[in-house]
Amino acid sequence: MTTAFDLTTLVRPNIAALNPYSSARDEFKGSAEVYLDANENPYETGLNRYPDPLAAAVKKELEQLKGVPAQQIMLGNGSDEVIDLLFRIFCEPGKDEVITLPPTYGMYQVSADINNVGVKKVPLKAGFVPDVDAILAEANERTKILWLCTPNNPSGNDFPADAMERLVGSFPGIVVIDEAYVDFANRASYTTWLDRFPNLVIMQTFSKAWGLAGIRLGMAFASTAIIQLLNAVKPPYNVNRLTQKAALEALQEKQKQAEEVQTILGQRALMQQHLASLSFVERVYPSSSNFILAKVEDPKATYNYLMGKGIIVRDRSRQYACEGCLRFTVGTPEENERLFRALIEM
Ligand SMILES: *Cc1c(COP(=O)(O)O)cnc(C)c1O
Repeated sequence: MTTAFDLTTLVRPNIAALNPYSSARDEFKGSAEVYLDANENPYETGLNRYPDPLAAAVKKELEQLKGVPAQQIMLGNGSDEVIDLLFRIFCEPGKDEVITLPPTYGMYQVSADINNVGVKKVPLKAGFVPDVDAILAEANERTKILWLCTPNNPSGNDFPADAMERLVGSFPGIVVIDEAYVDFANRASYTTWLDRFPNLVIMQTFSKAWGLAGIRLGMAFASTAIIQLLNAVKPPYNVNRLTQKAALEALQEKQKQAEEVQTILGQRALMQQHLASLSFVERVYPSSSNFILAKVEDPKATYNYLMGKGIIVRDRSRQYACEGCLRFTVGTPEENERLFRALIEM
């Protein structure tokens, strides 16, 4: 199963040869009394200085929380920036390709299109599980990245661990596991596999369980070599000072985050029951995330009815294998109650 993994054969030649931008804060890292090196305005506002390009203080906290050393962590302007960077590091436009497993998160396709990279789609099987043999059969030397989103958006389920292990262990290119919803899943993060698999990249985000979608902060965990590539290609100051500050504050309140996640999990179970009890709901899919996919008789009518009641859900009925489906994000108990009342009266 273990073929020798050679990162250099996967990286685009121009990226391998890149001489990264070196900022003032990269060149002088100590502390001084007078900074006259970065053309900043000297008058103090709390924001007149550039941010730390590598966000060392945030990574120090994450090291503890995630059990991953700082040199194996990269921070992006949301996971969406990390997705784009991975395409730019590994995929030669017009030549290379990636694999996605529809139905899945839309950004992999959009980022591929922006970077002129082909996408091979290997649909999820019944129950929204990966077709491991079909995926491996599609891989060749031009297939650089396999995108695995688990728990998967929009289906909500977590892929079986044995399928994950076969894919990460046997896929010849980079395997990205997008764990945006891992805090709502009943398992630990696959970051524990980083030492076993040099081709693995794990993405997480502050946008979901941490309640900080507005600050735009995504995390990537990978080998030191892959993290060095991500840091070389990212814009030098991609995570701004306000974002680093807000993340540090949130990381001081881990208890609050844990309580919110517990409340959301309780509300998810309640929402599953409520949806399943409605006659026009044909199917409620299992969820390991903070949303529920449900098949209804008339998705458009249901969507419009809820909109009229001031409640917006996501119409996923045009996604592959999601015919008739709406996606319900779990809200506060009051918001969910309002949704249930509206649905019962429909
Ligand atoms: C919401 C979501 C993200 C988060 O993206 P950010 O850019 O970090 O906000 C990533 N992946 C998936 C699958 C998501 O649903």
